Amino acid sequence: MLGGTTSQAINTQYYQAVFDDILSRLYPTQCECGTRCDRPMPSRPYSVRCPSCLRQKSKLAHTPFRNLRIPQWMAGYAVEESYHRHPQVITASELSRRLEINYRTALLLKRRIQLLASEQLKRIYPLIRQELETAFPRPYKLPAEGNDVRPETIDRPVVHADTMVLFSASQRANKGRKRHRNRGLTSSIYLSERLGGHQIGTLCHVMGTKQGWVLIDSVPDLRANTVGPIIRDRLPRNTAIFTDEAYTWLYRIYPNHRMVNHSKKSADRRFKYARDRWCQNGVHNQVSEGLNGSLKKAMRAYSYFRPQYSTLYLNEWAFFKNLRYFGLERLAENSLAAENPVARRSRTGCLIESARDSAEGGNGPCGASADSIKQPIPLPRLGPRLSPRRLRAFE
Ligand SMILES: [Zn+2]
Repeated sequence: MLGGTTSQAINTQYYQAVFDDILSRLYPTQCECGTRCDRPMPSRPYSVRCPSCLRQKSKLAHTPFRNLRIPQWMAGYAVEESYHRHPQVITASELSRRLEINYRTALLLKRRIQLLASEQLKRIYPLIRQELETAFPRPYKLPAEGNDVRPETIDRPVVHADTMVLFSASQRANKGRKRHRNRGLTSSIYLSERLGGHQIGTLCHVMGTKQGWVLIDSVPDLRANTVGPIIRDRLPRNTAIFTDEAYTWLYRIYPNHRMVNHSKKSADRRFKYARDRWCQNGVHNQVSEGLNGSLKKAMRAYSYFRPQYSTLYLNEWAFFKNLRYFGLERLAENSLAAENPVARRSRTGCLIESARDSAEGGNGPCGASADSIKQPIPLPRLGPRLSPRRLRAFE
Protein backbone atom coordinates (compact mmCIF):
# COMPACT_ATOMS: atom_id res chain seq x y z
CA MET A 1 0.00 0.00 0.00
CA LEU A 2 1.47 3.33 -1.03
CA GLY A 3 2.05 5.55 1.99
CA GLY A 4 1.11 2.87 4.50
CA THR A 5 3.28 1.85 7.44
CA THR A 6 6.21 -0.47 6.80
CA SER A 7 4.42 -3.58 7.96
CA GLN A 8 1.49 -2.79 5.64
CA ALA A 9 3.77 -2.12 2.68
CA ILE A 10 6.03 -5.16 3.09
CA ASN A 11 4.95 -8.78 3.32
CA THR A 12 6.52 -9.41 6.70
CA GLN A 13 5.40 -13.04 6.91
CA TYR A 14 7.18 -13.81 3.66
CA TYR A 15 10.43 -12.18 4.76
CA GLN A 16 10.23 -13.93 8.14
CA ALA A 17 10.02 -17.24 6.25
CA VAL A 18 13.02 -16.22 4.12
CA PHE A 19 14.99 -15.43 7.26
CA ASP A 20 14.06 -18.72 8.96
CA ASP A 21 15.00 -20.67 5.84
CA ILE A 22 18.42 -19.03 5.45
CA LEU A 23 19.19 -19.50 9.12
CA SER A 24 18.16 -23.15 9.23
CA ARG A 25 20.24 -23.96 6.14
CA LEU A 26 23.39 -21.99 6.88
CA TYR A 27 23.38 -22.26 10.68
CA PRO A 28 21.50 -25.47 11.48
CA THR A 29 20.88 -26.08 15.19
CA GLN A 30 21.73 -29.59 16.25
CA CYS A 31 19.88 -31.18 19.16
CA GLU A 32 21.56 -33.43 21.75
CA CYS A 33 19.45 -36.30 20.39
CA GLY A 34 21.12 -35.86 16.98
CA THR A 35 18.15 -34.39 15.11
CA ARG A 36 18.25 -31.03 13.42
CA CYS A 37 16.04 -28.51 15.25
CA ASP A 38 14.05 -26.72 12.58
CA ARG A 39 10.45 -26.58 13.74
CA PRO A 40 9.50 -22.93 14.19
CA MET A 41 7.56 -21.90 17.29
CA PRO A 42 5.04 -19.22 16.32
CA SER A 43 4.65 -17.92 19.85
CA ARG A 44 8.42 -17.82 20.52
CA PRO A 45 10.23 -16.09 17.65
CA TYR A 46 13.68 -16.59 19.21
CA SER A 47 13.45 -20.38 19.63
CA VAL A 48 13.22 -23.49 17.50
CA ARG A 49 12.00 -26.87 18.62
CA CYS A 50 13.48 -30.33 18.04
CA PRO A 51 10.90 -32.32 16.05
CA SER A 52 11.71 -35.63 17.80
CA CYS A 53 12.34 -34.84 21.48
CA LEU A 54 10.63 -31.42 21.52
CA ARG A 55 13.57 -29.74 23.25
CA GLN A 56 13.81 -25.98 22.67
CA LYS A 57 16.93 -24.35 21.26
CA SER A 58 17.91 -20.75 20.64
CA LYS A 59 17.48 -19.71 17.03
CA LEU A 60 19.93 -16.81 16.85
CA ALA A 61 22.69 -17.86 19.25
CA HIS A 62 26.13 -18.31 17.61
CA THR A 63 24.99 -16.79 14.33
CA PRO A 64 25.67 -13.28 12.98
CA PHE A 65 22.13 -12.36 14.07
CA ARG A 66 22.78 -12.98 17.75
CA ASN A 67 21.01 -10.48 20.00
CA LEU A 68 19.08 -8.94 17.07
CA ARG A 69 16.94 -6.12 18.44
CA ILE A 70 14.76 -5.45 15.40
CA PRO A 71 12.11 -7.75 13.92
CA GLN A 72 13.70 -10.73 12.19
CA TRP A 73 11.88 -10.20 8.91
CA MET A 74 13.96 -7.05 8.40
CA ALA A 75 17.09 -9.19 8.20
CA GLY A 76 15.29 -11.49 5.75
CA TYR A 77 14.35 -8.47 3.66
CA ALA A 78 17.94 -7.18 3.60
CA VAL A 79 19.37 -10.56 2.55
CA GLU A 80 16.80 -11.15 -0.15
CA GLU A 81 17.11 -7.66 -1.59
CA SER A 82 20.90 -7.95 -1.73
CA TYR A 83 20.56 -11.29 -3.49
CA HIS A 84 18.10 -10.14 -6.15
CA ARG A 85 19.76 -6.80 -6.75
CA HIS A 86 23.21 -8.15 -7.33
CA PRO A 87 25.44 -6.72 -8.94
CA GLN A 88 23.85 -3.65 -7.40
CA VAL A 89 23.87 -3.31 -3.61
CA ILE A 90 21.50 -2.06 -0.94
CA THR A 91 23.02 0.67 1.22
CA ALA A 92 22.38 1.28 4.90
CA SER A 93 20.60 4.54 4.17
CA GLU A 94 18.28 2.80 1.76
CA LEU A 95 17.52 0.11 4.35
CA SER A 96 16.83 2.87 6.83
CA ARG A 97 14.37 4.56 4.48
CA ARG A 98 12.68 1.37 3.34
CA LEU A 99 12.31 -0.29 6.74
CA GLU A 100 11.73 2.99 8.60
CA ILE A 101 14.47 2.33 11.11
CA ASN A 102 17.24 4.58 12.38
CA TYR A 103 20.33 4.92 10.18
CA ARG A 104 22.58 3.47 12.90
CA THR A 105 20.27 0.47 13.25
CA ALA A 106 20.29 -0.04 9.50
CA LEU A 107 24.08 0.15 9.43
CA LEU A 108 24.31 -2.50 12.15
CA LEU A 109 21.94 -4.72 10.16
CA LYS A 110 24.18 -4.20 7.14
CA ARG A 111 27.22 -5.20 9.21
CA ARG A 112 25.47 -8.39 10.34
CA ILE A 113 24.88 -9.32 6.71
CA GLN A 114 28.49 -8.56 5.89
CA LEU A 115 29.60 -10.84 8.72
CA LEU A 116 27.30 -13.58 7.42
CA ALA A 117 28.88 -13.16 3.98
CA SER A 118 32.44 -13.17 5.34
CA GLU A 119 31.81 -16.33 7.30
CA GLN A 120 29.96 -18.16 4.55
CA LEU A 121 32.64 -17.36 1.95
CA LYS A 122 34.78 -20.00 3.71
CA ARG A 123 32.29 -22.61 2.51
CA ILE A 124 32.66 -21.40 -1.05
CA TYR A 125 36.45 -21.85 -1.30
CA PRO A 126 36.26 -25.68 -1.36
CA LEU A 127 33.55 -25.51 -4.04
CA ILE A 128 35.82 -23.36 -6.22
CA ARG A 129 38.81 -25.64 -5.66
CA GLN A 130 36.68 -28.67 -6.53
CA GLU A 131 35.48 -27.07 -9.77
CA LEU A 132 39.01 -26.16 -10.83
CA GLU A 133 40.46 -29.54 -9.94
CA THR A 134 37.87 -31.24 -12.14
CA ALA A 135 38.54 -28.91 -15.07
CA PHE A 136 42.34 -28.88 -14.71
CA PRO A 137 43.44 -32.28 -13.35
CA ARG A 138 47.01 -32.82 -12.10
CA PRO A 139 49.05 -33.36 -15.30
CA TYR A 140 47.07 -30.85 -17.37
CA LYS A 141 49.17 -28.50 -19.54
CA LEU A 142 48.13 -25.66 -21.82
CA PRO A 143 49.89 -25.57 -25.22
CA ALA A 144 53.37 -24.02 -24.97
CA GLU A 145 53.60 -20.24 -24.93
CA GLY A 146 53.13 -18.70 -28.37
CA ASN A 147 50.55 -21.29 -29.50
CA ASP A 148 46.83 -20.69 -29.80
CA VAL A 149 45.04 -21.69 -26.59
CA ARG A 150 41.46 -21.19 -27.84
CA PRO A 151 40.61 -24.87 -28.51
CA GLU A 152 41.77 -25.74 -24.97
CA THR A 153 40.03 -22.95 -23.11
CA ILE A 154 36.71 -22.82 -24.94
CA ASP A 155 34.87 -25.04 -22.44
CA ARG A 156 37.09 -24.72 -19.38
CA PRO A 157 36.71 -22.24 -16.50
CA VAL A 158 39.89 -20.21 -17.05
CA VAL A 159 40.64 -17.93 -14.10
CA HIS A 160 41.22 -14.27 -14.92
CA ALA A 161 43.02 -12.15 -12.34
CA ASP A 162 43.49 -8.40 -12.15
CA THR A 163 43.68 -5.56 -9.67
CA MET A 164 41.69 -2.36 -9.34
CA VAL A 165 41.47 0.66 -7.07
CA LEU A 166 38.35 1.95 -5.33
CA PHE A 167 38.21 5.54 -4.03
CA SER A 168 41.68 6.53 -5.19
CA ALA A 169 43.67 9.39 -3.68
CA SER A 170 43.84 11.90 -6.47
CA GLN A 171 46.28 14.77 -6.62
CA ARG A 172 43.40 16.92 -5.44
CA ALA A 173 42.85 14.77 -2.35
CA ASN A 174 46.57 15.22 -1.72
CA LYS A 175 46.06 19.00 -1.78
CA GLY A 176 47.98 19.29 -5.03
CA ARG A 177 50.98 17.24 -3.97
CA LYS A 178 52.41 14.77 -6.42
CA ARG A 179 52.30 11.05 -5.62
CA HIS A 180 55.88 9.86 -5.24
CA ARG A 181 55.88 7.24 -2.56
CA ASN A 182 54.69 4.17 -4.42
CA ARG A 183 54.34 3.28 -8.05
CA GLY A 184 51.40 2.32 -10.22
CA LEU A 185 48.05 1.50 -8.64
CA THR A 186 49.53 1.36 -5.15
CA SER A 187 50.39 5.06 -5.24
CA SER A 188 46.74 5.97 -5.64
CA ILE A 189 45.52 4.45 -2.38
CA TYR A 190 47.95 6.19 -0.01
CA LEU A 191 47.93 9.88 0.86
CA SER A 192 51.09 11.92 0.47
CA GLU A 193 53.70 11.63 3.28
CA ARG A 194 53.12 15.26 4.24
CA LEU A 195 49.45 14.54 4.85
CA GLY A 196 50.08 11.51 7.05
CA GLY A 197 50.72 8.92 4.35
CA HIS A 198 47.90 6.68 5.50
CA GLN A 199 45.73 4.57 3.25
CA ILE A 200 42.52 6.13 2.03
CA GLY A 201 41.67 4.07 -1.06
CA THR A 202 41.11 0.34 -1.38
CA LEU A 203 43.18 -1.90 -3.62
CA CYS A 204 41.22 -4.99 -4.71
CA HIS A 205 42.62 -8.17 -6.14
CA VAL A 206 39.90 -9.73 -8.30
CA MET A 207 39.84 -13.31 -9.61
CA GLY A 208 36.97 -14.89 -11.46
CA THR A 209 35.75 -17.07 -14.29
CA LYS A 210 33.43 -16.30 -17.16
CA GLN A 211 29.86 -16.15 -15.82
CA GLY A 212 31.05 -17.97 -12.74
CA TRP A 213 32.43 -17.35 -9.28
CA VAL A 214 34.52 -14.44 -8.06
CA LEU A 215 37.12 -13.97 -5.32
CA ILE A 216 37.97 -10.47 -4.16
CA ASP A 217 40.61 -9.51 -1.63
CA SER A 218 41.58 -6.14 -0.27
CA VAL A 219 45.38 -5.94 -0.46
CA PRO A 220 47.90 -3.34 0.80
CA ASP A 221 50.13 -3.51 -2.32
CA LEU A 222 50.77 -5.67 -5.39
CA ARG A 223 54.04 -7.36 -4.48
CA ALA A 224 54.48 -11.08 -5.11
CA ASN A 225 54.60 -11.72 -1.39
CA THR A 226 51.20 -10.11 -0.93
CA VAL A 227 49.29 -11.46 -3.92
CA GLY A 228 51.12 -14.81 -4.19
CA PRO A 229 49.72 -16.39 -1.02
CA ILE A 230 46.18 -15.31 -1.95
CA ILE A 231 46.38 -17.08 -5.31
CA ARG A 232 48.19 -20.09 -3.87
CA ASP A 233 45.63 -20.62 -1.11
CA ARG A 234 42.63 -20.52 -3.43
CA LEU A 235 43.63 -22.07 -6.77
CA PRO A 236 45.04 -25.54 -7.49
CA ARG A 237 48.44 -25.73 -9.22
CA ASN A 238 47.26 -26.73 -12.69
CA THR A 239 44.67 -23.98 -13.05
CA ALA A 240 44.89 -21.94 -16.25
CA ILE A 241 45.28 -18.30 -15.20
CA PHE A 242 45.18 -15.37 -17.60
CA THR A 243 46.42 -11.99 -16.38
CA ASP A 244 47.94 -8.77 -17.63
CA GLU A 245 51.69 -8.10 -17.51
CA ALA A 246 51.75 -7.37 -13.77
CA TYR A 247 52.22 -10.99 -12.70
CA THR A 248 55.68 -11.79 -14.07
CA TRP A 249 56.50 -13.92 -11.00
CA LEU A 250 53.47 -16.22 -11.21
CA TYR A 251 54.79 -18.66 -13.84
CA ARG A 252 57.11 -20.19 -11.22
CA ILE A 253 54.12 -21.53 -9.25
CA TYR A 254 51.49 -21.99 -11.94
CA PRO A 255 52.70 -23.63 -15.16
CA ASN A 256 49.44 -22.73 -16.94
CA HIS A 257 49.73 -19.01 -16.30
CA ARG A 258 49.63 -16.80 -19.41
CA MET A 259 49.95 -13.03 -19.68
CA VAL A 260 48.57 -10.66 -22.28
CA ASN A 261 50.79 -7.72 -23.19
CA HIS A 262 48.49 -4.72 -23.26
CA SER A 263 51.21 -2.41 -24.57
CA LYS A 264 52.47 -4.65 -27.37
CA LYS A 265 53.98 -2.43 -30.07
CA SER A 266 52.92 -2.65 -33.68
CA ALA A 267 55.40 -3.87 -36.27
CA ASP A 268 53.95 -1.31 -38.71
CA ARG A 269 55.52 2.14 -38.29
CA ARG A 270 52.17 3.86 -38.89
CA PHE A 271 50.71 2.54 -35.63
CA LYS A 272 51.90 2.72 -32.08
CA TYR A 273 50.25 -0.38 -30.61
CA ALA A 274 49.78 -3.81 -32.13
CA ARG A 275 46.36 -4.93 -33.31
CA ASP A 276 46.38 -7.87 -30.91
CA ARG A 277 47.23 -5.87 -27.81
CA TRP A 278 44.04 -7.05 -26.04
CA CYS A 279 44.11 -10.72 -27.05
CA GLN A 280 47.19 -12.71 -28.06
CA ASN A 281 46.68 -16.33 -29.18
CA GLY A 282 43.41 -16.50 -27.28
CA VAL A 283 44.94 -15.17 -24.05
CA HIS A 284 42.94 -12.18 -22.87
CA ASN A 285 41.80 -10.51 -19.68
CA GLN A 286 38.26 -9.47 -20.54
CA VAL A 287 36.53 -11.38 -17.75
CA SER A 288 38.35 -9.54 -14.99
CA GLU A 289 37.90 -6.24 -16.80
CA GLY A 290 34.18 -6.96 -16.83
CA LEU A 291 34.20 -7.89 -13.14
CA ASN A 292 36.14 -4.73 -12.33
CA GLY A 293 33.56 -2.66 -14.16
CA SER A 294 30.61 -4.17 -12.39
CA LEU A 295 32.33 -4.05 -8.98
CA LYS A 296 33.29 -0.42 -9.47
CA LYS A 297 29.77 0.49 -10.50
CA ALA A 298 28.30 -1.30 -7.47
CA MET A 299 30.71 0.31 -5.01
CA ARG A 300 29.82 3.76 -6.34
CA ALA A 301 26.57 3.36 -4.41
CA TYR A 302 28.50 3.66 -1.15
CA SER A 303 30.20 6.94 -2.11
CA TYR A 304 33.08 5.98 0.25
CA PHE A 305 34.18 3.41 2.81
CA ARG A 306 37.33 3.35 4.87
CA PRO A 307 39.95 0.70 4.04
CA GLN A 308 39.39 -0.89 7.48
CA TYR A 309 35.93 -1.91 6.34
CA SER A 310 36.84 -2.74 2.74
CA THR A 311 37.01 -6.50 3.31
CA LEU A 312 33.47 -6.51 4.69
CA TYR A 313 32.07 -4.69 1.67
CA LEU A 314 34.05 -6.74 -0.84
CA ASN A 315 33.17 -10.02 0.88
CA GLU A 316 29.51 -9.08 0.81
CA TRP A 317 29.59 -8.40 -2.92
CA ALA A 318 31.59 -11.56 -3.67
CA PHE A 319 29.34 -13.68 -1.45
CA PHE A 320 26.15 -12.71 -3.25
CA LYS A 321 27.76 -13.27 -6.64
CA ASN A 322 28.96 -16.71 -5.58
CA LEU A 323 25.62 -17.49 -3.99
CA ARG A 324 23.89 -16.80 -7.28
CA TYR A 325 26.36 -19.05 -9.07
CA PHE A 326 26.56 -22.02 -6.67
CA GLY A 327 23.09 -21.74 -5.13
CA LEU A 328 22.02 -21.98 -1.50
CA GLU A 329 21.57 -25.75 -1.76
CA ARG A 330 25.23 -26.47 -2.47
CA LEU A 331 26.35 -23.97 0.11
CA ALA A 332 24.23 -25.58 2.81
CA GLU A 333 25.45 -29.07 1.83
CA ASN A 334 29.05 -28.04 2.11
CA SER A 335 28.64 -27.09 5.75
CA LEU A 336 31.55 -26.22 7.99
CA ALA A 337 33.21 -29.17 9.75
CA ALA A 338 30.55 -30.43 12.13
CA GLU A 339 27.35 -28.70 13.01
CA ASN A 340 27.23 -29.93 16.60
CA PRO A 341 26.60 -27.32 19.30
CA VAL A 342 30.18 -27.42 20.56
CA ALA A 343 31.73 -26.75 17.16
CA ARG A 344 29.21 -24.03 16.57
CA ARG A 345 30.10 -22.35 19.82
CA SER A 346 33.83 -22.43 19.13
CA ARG A 347 33.30 -20.87 15.72
CA THR A 348 31.88 -17.63 17.02
CA GLY A 349 35.33 -16.13 17.43
CA CYS A 350 36.21 -16.54 13.77
CA LEU A 351 33.68 -14.05 12.41
CA ILE A 352 36.02 -11.12 12.59
CA GLU A 353 39.11 -13.26 12.11
CA SER A 354 38.09 -14.27 8.60
CA ALA A 355 37.66 -10.63 7.67
CA ARG A 356 41.07 -9.80 9.07
CA ASP A 357 42.76 -12.70 7.26
CA SER A 358 42.13 -11.39 3.82
CA ALA A 359 42.11 -7.66 4.59
CA GLU A 360 45.70 -7.62 5.57
CA GLY A 361 47.00 -9.73 2.74
CA GLY A 362 50.40 -11.24 3.21
CA ASN A 363 53.74 -9.62 3.66
CA GLY A 364 56.19 -12.46 3.82
CA PRO A 365 59.96 -12.15 3.71
CA CYS A 366 61.37 -10.56 0.56
CA GLY A 367 63.27 -12.59 -2.01
CA ALA A 368 61.51 -15.80 -1.10
CA SER A 369 61.21 -18.31 -3.90
CA ALA A 370 57.74 -19.03 -5.17
CA ASP A 371 57.39 -22.27 -3.27
CA SER A 372 58.42 -20.74 0.00
CA ILE A 373 55.85 -17.94 -0.09
CA LYS A 374 54.77 -17.75 3.51
CA GLN A 375 51.32 -17.62 5.02
CA PRO A 376 50.06 -14.06 5.43
CA ILE A 377 51.44 -12.40 8.52
CA PRO A 378 49.49 -9.47 9.95
CA LEU A 379 50.50 -6.02 8.81
CA PRO A 380 50.62 -3.20 11.31
CA ARG A 381 47.17 -1.79 11.94
CA LEU A 382 46.27 1.46 10.23
CA GLY A 383 46.88 4.28 12.65
CA PRO A 384 44.06 6.45 13.93
CA ARG A 385 43.19 9.42 11.80
CA LEU A 386 45.26 12.24 13.23
CA SER A 387 44.99 15.86 12.25
CA PRO A 388 48.29 17.71 11.65
CA ARG A 389 47.80 19.57 14.93
CA ARG A 390 47.41 16.35 16.89
CA LEU A 391 50.42 14.90 15.11
CA ARG A 392 52.55 17.75 16.36
CA ALA A 393 51.34 17.05 19.88
CA PHE A 394 52.71 13.51 19.53
CA GLU A 395 56.26 14.65 18.72
ZN1 LIG B 1 16.07 -33.58 20.11
